[in-house]
Parts: sequence; C-alpha cells; structure tokens
Amino acid sequence: MSSKAVVPVSAPLDWQYAPSRESTGIVALKERYGLFIDGKFRAPLSKKYFPTINPATEEELAEVPEAGAQDVNRAVVAARRAFDEDWGSLPGKERAKYLFRIARMVQERSRELAVLETMDGGKPIREARDVDLPLVAAHFFYYAGWADKLEYAFPGLHPEPLGVAGQVIPWNFPLMMLAWKLAPALAAGNTVVLKPAETTPLSALHFAELASEAGLPPGVVNIITGAGATGGALVAHPGVDKVAFTGSTSVGKLIRSQLAGSGKRLTLELGGKAAHVIFEDAPLDQAIEGVINGIFFNQGHVCCAGSRLFVQESIHDRFVDKLKRRLSTLRVGDPLDKNTDVGAINSAEQLARITELVEAGQLEGAEIYQPECVLPRNGFWFVPTLFTGVSQSHRIAQEEIFGPVLSIMSFRTPEEAVEKANNTPYGLSAGVWTQKGSRILWMADQLKAGVVWANTYNKFDPSSPFGGYKESGFGREGGRHGLLPYLKGIGL
Ligand code: NDP
Repeated sequence: MSSKAVVPVSAPLDWQYAPSRESTGIVALKERYGLFIDGKFRAPLSKKYFPTINPATEEELAEVPEAGAQDVNRAVVAARRAFDEDWGSLPGKERAKYLFRIARMVQERSRELAVLETMDGGKPIREARDVDLPLVAAHFFYYAGWADKLEYAFPGLHPEPLGVAGQVIPWNFPLMMLAWKLAPALAAGNTVVLKPAETTPLSALHFAELASEAGLPPGVVNIITGAGATGGALVAHPGVDKVAFTGSTSVGKLIRSQLAGSGKRLTLELGGKAAHVIFEDAPLDQAIEGVINGIFFNQGHVCCAGSRLFVQESIHDRFVDKLKRRLSTLRVGDPLDKNTDVGAINSAEQLARITELVEAGQLEGAEIYQPECVLPRNGFWFVPTLFTGVSQSHRIAQEEIFGPVLSIMSFRTPEEAVEKANNTPYGLSAGVWTQKGSRILWMADQLKAGVVWANTYNKFDPSSPFGGYKESGFGREGGRHGLLPYLKGIGL
C-alpha cells in the first residue's frame, strides 16, 4: 500500500459530495438574438434590446430584443399568412410529422437545452434534465399523435382550427410552458405567436432555431421577446383569435377584462396556494419526501406547489421534526452542480417578493425555521423555510409566495382538513397522503382543485389535463381536453 493512501486516524473524514458541475460548453450562446418572425431571426423594428442574466451569478448571458407594437404586428401578420396559405389546411398527418420531428430533435438536443434552461432561469440542472426536458419532448410526441385523429377525438363535431394563437408564458418552466402551449395549438392546426417571460427568453429562442431546422414552414411559430408591454400588445392585437396565458392572477384578470367583448377565445392558467394534507395513517417517510418535492421543487416557483401543509394534529410535532431534519440535508447552491437540490431564485424582483412575504409571516406571529445554510455570494438565493404556528388569516397562508417557503397548519378531522384546504381564492391543485383509498376518493371529491395528487405530488403527464378553478383560471392544458381551446365551435 502506498503511503499516500493512509488516512491519519485524527483527520476528519469529508463526507461532502464532490462537486459535479455540468459544463456550459455545450451551449452556443449568441451575444445578441433577434425576434423569430416568419421563419427568420430579425432585428426588432423597435431597435430596443435588454440583457438577460444568469440569476445564480448575475452575469449577463446575452441581449434579446424588446418587441414593440410594430414587431408584434409583423409576427401576427406572418402567423395569419402561414395559417391561411399553409398550415391551416395541411392534413393532420402532415402536421403530425413536423411535431414528431420536433419531439425527436428536442430529445437529441435535450442536454444543451437543459443547461441553457438552468443558466437562464436558475433551476437545478437535475430538474431541467430529468423533469423539464423529458416532459417537453413528451408533450410534442403526445400531441403529434392527436394531429391526425381530431375527428376521432371529437366525433361528429368537425373540429377545425381557430387561426392565430397569441400565447404568453412565465419564467418558472420556460420550455415546458412553451411545449404546453405550442404542441396542442399546432396539432389542432393553428399558427402561433409566443412571448416568453422577460427573465427567461433564451430557451424559446433556441427552440425557434430547432423548429426552423425541423423544416416548420415560415410563420407557423413566431417567438417575440419583451416585457409585460409586449405581452399586452400581443393579447390586444386584433389579428389574434385565441389567447393562452400562464402567469399571475393579477395579470390574468387584466387580460380577461381587456378581452371582454372582443370575441377572442381565452384560457388562463394562474396562481395557486395548494393544500397538501397529511393524515395520521400516511406512510410518513414517503410523505416527507412528497412534501419536500411539493414545495422545494424548482425553488417553489411552481403554480401548483404544495405551499400550505395541513398535518393531522396527532402526528403534527413528529412530522414537523422529521421535516426539519430533512430540510437540513437539502443542498442549496450552484444550479449547474448535479448535486444541487435548490437552485437560484429567478430574479431580484421575485427574491424581494418572497422576502417581503416571509417578513410579513414573522410580523404576524408565525414561527420561522430555516436550516443553517451557506449561500453563494452572488446571485439571488433564499434558504428553504418552514413556518409553524400559522393561522388561516396570515398572509403566508393566503397569498402565493412562489418561493421555497412552506406554511404548516394542523387539523383534527377530515371535514376540518377540507374546510381549511378550500379556504383560499385559488383552486389549482392539492395533495393527500393516507393509506385509505376511500378517504382519498372522498377528499378528491371535496377539494376544490383542478388536480388532486394522492400519495405523491407534482407528477405530470401530457395525457393528463391540468388547470384550475376560481382565481387559478380556467381551461385545461394536457390530454384530449388540451385540444379544445384551439378548436372552433368546441369547448372554451
Ligand atoms: P406575470 O403574470 O407578470 O408574468 C407572466 C407573463 O405575462 C410574462 O411573460 C410577463 O412578461 C407577461 N405579462 C406581464 N404583464 C402582462 C400584460 N399586461 N399583458 C400580457 N402579458 C403580460 O408574473 P410575474 O413574473 O410578475 O410574477 C409575479 C407573481 O405571479 C409571482 O410571484 C407568482 O406569484 C405569480 N406567477 C404565477 C405563475 C403561474 O404559473 N401560475 C407563473 C409566474 C408568476 P414579463 O415576464 O416580461 O413581465
């Protein structure tokens, strides 16, 4: 044995994971991007650009155009022409070929796109690689399968496309939201103008490049970047037949009032404040993992995050102790490191919003718990946080925090759990943990939420419809239901 291999008895053993950083060399970033209109990248007529940064380092990644009203018009005109002359009358089996090709190309380039998503948005590479990108490809595969079967999906209803869809998406799952929007719209025969969020425009622009390589006819997909004003101009454009929006409830309300009387079709996927209910007979260690996934997946930047935890009183203290222990094992830091569990907060604005709500929780008397955690110097970070002693009336129990912050409350009976869970203006999702199947079915029936997970959380599948009630919006994405908003005379 060489002397190097001998570890002195007194030396402390280092059990830390060795860093395992994904290389960024696979992503070819441009210094400056164009708007993807009518099959080509074009300089904006507005002549304006803005920087997009890596939220984990605050380094500038690239400049992207800020589309003005003239650019929006150009994109909508291109989409209309493509619909009238080409895509709208293309047989479904031909549209399917393009969608299958796109799905396969997403798979081929999935490592590059996952790294890009992490660089621009701050999410852990493990999630971008294992959740976002596989789901993006799966959505295109799934809707490719429907493109030539619309007559079978809606027998006797003669499904026809609407025309031009204007789609606005948020920053939490940039490429996945793009897939949720584009795949059903294109499968149904519509053309699209899509605006990604201001802080995460890059993966949509790289997707545009991919769609062009897939041979998609010019104008079928147009990607315009910009801030809220660009989104506002898109949804208000008279050439848009259907608006699909995912984002905050406040902007959703604004869009709904803007579109009233316009005759445009609208679907809204808005905020949430999901109840995650743990009964005393639940498999507790599995439930702990479910709760961790429910609130710390994607730093809690998830509209369906299980942000209100209801634990049956008989197990409350034991469960909270377990949860605290598990929290202390979460690794927060460099999102490009494959060991990282919790990445960077998406922007300084979002960090300020989370901080303000957490301070409000403390001021209102809830008890905070945060594990010891060394945060990187640069970038935007928030320590995984639990609140106990939370009242139904506290802001942290009512408002969407959209960050890694869990509000814990208790209940004694199933009826009380339902009453408390439904005490929210939202209705997007919920989770239930119990060993009793009948109780799961009863709870699912009582909970006013579009999706109810049982003994699991945050599970997505393209064949499963997703969407909300009340202030969480209306319309469904995913499944056969996801085609309805894009077809004339059927559905919403
Ligand atoms: P927004 O609702 O402002 O953003 C969502 C998208 O809408 C973005 O692309 C945004 O552009 C665009 N947009 C903004 N204003 C308008 C407008 N008037 N007309 C059309 N489009 C518009 O969400 P924020 O980014 O401000 O996040 C605020 C809060 O919203 C979060 O803290 C969270 O609580 C919630 N949220 C919920 C999401 C969900 O999935 N349900 C997703 C994102 C946020 P731009 O990014 O350029 O401003």
